[in-house]
Amino acid sequence: TADSKTSLRIAIQKSGRLTDKTIELLKGIGLRFDDYKRNLMVECRNFDVELLLIRDDDIPEYVQDGVCDLGFVGANVTAETGANVTVLRDLDYGVCRLSLAARKEGDIQTTEDFQGKTVATSYPKLTRDYFEENDVEAQIVTISGAVEIAPRLEVADAICDLVSTGNTLKANGLQELDTILESETQLIQTNKTLSEGKKQLIDKFLQRMDGHQQAERSRYIMMNAPESSVPKIKDIIPSLNSPTVMPLADNNMVAIHTVIPIDEFWIVMEKLKKEGATGIVILPIESMIL
Ligand code: ATP
Ligand code: MG
Repeated sequence: TADSKTSLRIAIQKSGRLTDKTIELLKGIGLRFDDYKRNLMVECRNFDVELLLIRDDDIPEYVQDGVCDLGFVGANVTAETGANVTVLRDLDYGVCRLSLAARKEGDIQTTEDFQGKTVATSYPKLTRDYFEENDVEAQIVTISGAVEIAPRLEVADAICDLVSTGNTLKANGLQELDTILESETQLIQTNKTLSEGKKQLIDKFLQRMDGHQQAERSRYIMMNAPESSVPKIKDIIPSLNSPTVMPLADNNMVAIHTVIPIDEFWIVMEKLKKEGATGIVILPIESMIL
């Protein structure tokens, strides 16, 4: 089993919507591996990690069974398989929702209208659960891909499928009705007992991931400002620590360096300019250890 070696085995999607972002994340936290595209299993060169590249459908069960210790997979897949795993982190990519949709201006407009209708989906468990909870009897037709064309082919009256922008639905003359599940990529962990060595590796892995994510959401900001406005600037900057303030050759001016959350960037920027800040420079941050 994966547990006999002190190397973490991590399942990721071999080829699909999550692959590039997941690889990017792993590279972003400093993991280096050779050509992952051609192999099922790739060993990391500088961290005790091996990647197992598989279909996303298989990831939750592999993690549940302890074949892999960790996995990166959509919450939608984990929910559909009903796998017994622990969610360690919610990640902000692969964001989508599982929604019911039917023909635009057709006879299905509300949840009750699904009574007696057929619904095509790749998510039979979640769809069935939803109708059961709503006391609606609908017939589920399980198909594995191109669900959105089922109504046109008259295979089903409606569908239950993943939506992100809604463009695919629109292009197929469908309108989105209820949302069954909001989803994003998650890092999941097995509930099987892990060795001390593996637990430590997971801690190390998480620390790197958190540092990387924190850094992605922050920017390093530098500016010059009149010394007299330092108290006001300190109030404006929602800084992690107190900002660094350094004297400049011009003795009424100081240089201020600090870290700000990216969300507050533009608001902060405008306020700073009002206080006389000039030469504002913003830099990306590689990682942050708090
Ligand atoms: P695999 O061959 O690995 O089984 P797949 O075809 O099942 O691949 P993809 O289409 O690559 O899966 O989607 C992977 C995941 O991306 C989905 O399970 C979901 O979590 C997420 N996702 C985000 N937006 C969408 C979308 N608009 N449609 C489908 N999946 C999406
Ligand atoms: Mg799949």
